[in-house]
Amino acid sequence: MISTFSLSILTLQKRFILIKVKTKIFGEIFSMSTVELPQYDYDIIIIGGGPAGYSAGIYAARAGLKTLLVEGASTVSQITITDLIENYPGIPEGINGLDLMQLFKKQALKFDLEVMAKDVVAIKKNASSPAIWNVTVGEAGLKTLSVIAATGAHWRNLGAPGETEFAGKGVSYCATCDGPFYRNKDVVVVGGGDTAIQEALFLTHFAKKVTVIHRRDRLRAAGILQKRAFAEKKIEFVWNATLTEVAGGDFVTGVKITDLHSGKISKITAEGVFIFVGRLPHTDIFQGLLELDATGFIKTDENLKTSADGIFAAGDCRVKLFRQVVTAASDGANAVFSAELYIEDLKGEKY
Ligand code: NAP
Repeated sequence: MISTFSLSILTLQKRFILIKVKTKIFGEIFSMSTVELPQYDYDIIIIGGGPAGYSAGIYAARAGLKTLLVEGASTVSQITITDLIENYPGIPEGINGLDLMQLFKKQALKFDLEVMAKDVVAIKKNASSPAIWNVTVGEAGLKTLSVIAATGAHWRNLGAPGETEFAGKGVSYCATCDGPFYRNKDVVVVGGGDTAIQEALFLTHFAKKVTVIHRRDRLRAAGILQKRAFAEKKIEFVWNATLTEVAGGDFVTGVKITDLHSGKISKITAEGVFIFVGRLPHTDIFQGLLELDATGFIKTDENLKTSADGIFAAGDCRVKLFRQVVTAASDGANAVFSAELYIEDLKGEKY
């Protein structure tokens, strides 16, 4: 049986807990940012007009955030030079990259997204207000609470004769995109890293033979990928060689390779040439501002925050494993959600 004395102890304990909870909530409310924000032009400036940028634009504008998307005046998104995208969900018949981007843009403009076709030349923290980022777009100096970097990346070219001429006509930088076009055909893959070997393995689902041409006598790729590739009967290796020419008529018919020891030139017949010699991010404007990896990709956490408060990164420009239109679009949406929480906090409107 509980005595009156122990009941009152229990009541006191409950009250004490309640007071502690109330104090915590009160404390949290008052620990929220109540900083007076100076004048600024935008809640978010998105840099980049590819799938990550426009997906972010759709989410930000629809959320009622004052948003500007800056699509470069001197660069185009990689997707716009992709002939056919067959794996973007919801479009079963496939779509040309440029057409897909125009649909992204149309959808974003429906929500009144502001778009500027200019290059961003500088990003600096405002000297008098740390909550503001000064972004120089062309000649204009704009103030924003947050930035989403969606500047993309491009495949590193070999620079071999015929490479540019046959891009989209047999030369490809994406096996996931173009592999299915090479059913029962011979293809070559250039490179010895994770991407080259992973994509060579993927190509064996379609191609009759996959010849990997690598400039050294061993692969850079992870051991597990090497093991799989060496066990795959459809893959052959040409070591210590480099591709020196892509040849063909309307489409690729083969490549010339040079043995790096003997200098001997030989030919390989192939209808597809897949080049995976690394990818370079468009992140020059973030040098010294954000933490980048050794190749220059932006490091983020799982919520796409970078090392600088108020700057988020989405799509191919950030460190990630799988660079596809669908993963870039998803990054754009996630980056806006994180930016929105950050902005609400800055404005003292945190829920
Ligand atoms: P990478 O690791 O930089 O490898 C590039 C490859 O291309 C190397 O084998 C390099 O040869 C070769 N290469 C570079 N320039 C060349 C040239 N001018 N001529 C001929 N060959 C040339 O690039 P990546 O394979 O795209 O990988 C990039 C990053 O993504 C890496 O960190 C990788 O681990 C990661 N990744 C991970 C996975 C996975 O874990 N499943 C999948 C894909 C990518 P050398 O070896 O002689 O330098």
